Amino acid sequence: MFVKNNSTYQSTVLQSEETFHGFGMRNNRMSKKSMWVRPEAALSFLQKFGCTREQVVEMEQVHADRIQTVTKKDGGSYFSGIDGLLTSDRGILLVVRSLDCAPLLFFDPVKKVIGAAHVGWKGALLNLAGSMIRTMISEFRCDPKSILVAIGPMIRACCYTIPQERKELFVSKFGDNIRYIAHKKGEWYLNLPVVIYDELINSGVVPEHIDECSFCTKTMSDEFYSHRAEKDQQTQQEGANYSIIGIEE
Ligand SMILES: [Zn+2]
Repeated sequence: MFVKNNSTYQSTVLQSEETFHGFGMRNNRMSKKSMWVRPEAALSFLQKFGCTREQVVEMEQVHADRIQTVTKKDGGSYFSGIDGLLTSDRGILLVVRSLDCAPLLFFDPVKKVIGAAHVGWKGALLNLAGSMIRTMISEFRCDPKSILVAIGPMIRACCYTIPQERKELFVSKFGDNIRYIAHKKGEWYLNLPVVIYDELINSGVVPEHIDECSFCTKTMSDEFYSHRAEKDQQTQQEGANYSIIGIEE
């Protein structure tokens, strides 16, 4: 379950005394680019978590499946060509920014490993969610049954129309799965959170450890930045929803 706290949402599954996390919203007024495009907004956002910019690790997010393991010395860094971050170090903050794509936050309370990933339709076809779990197993000896995952606000089957070619890419990868693709009034709709959920389950994560918020960024575009909502309203927004996770020092 997701609960609102201090202008961000928190997952009750991820909540622990050892970590802090938050799924940001429109009112955090964060930039679509790096966190430092609007430093004033970034500072007030980070203050909510008692953090400084030198502790933040950002990624470029290129809709691919490369994952970077980082350490405390990477605080303040920006990694190109990356859509997933992992660490077991305290005192750094992993950040993912999203509009309609999924922000995923990970925590293994046994091995004390955290992760953040950005998964859109390309990342789902590449099974980035599953790669995050496999990397946690191979690099940190995590047991997938211990790993907690929160799937943050993203576009859902209610709003996510896709072109025929994209529908065919999903059918060729996953078969004709009615849980993934629906056909309504001549349009194809993709249920991306269910695809990601299944990738986590197929990687060994247990259902009770997955917190799926069920918030649609387009339907709830008064609360969250949404690329599709902005396209429909023909408004150009510069913001993104920022989600973060860190281990308490
Ligand atoms: Zn919707």
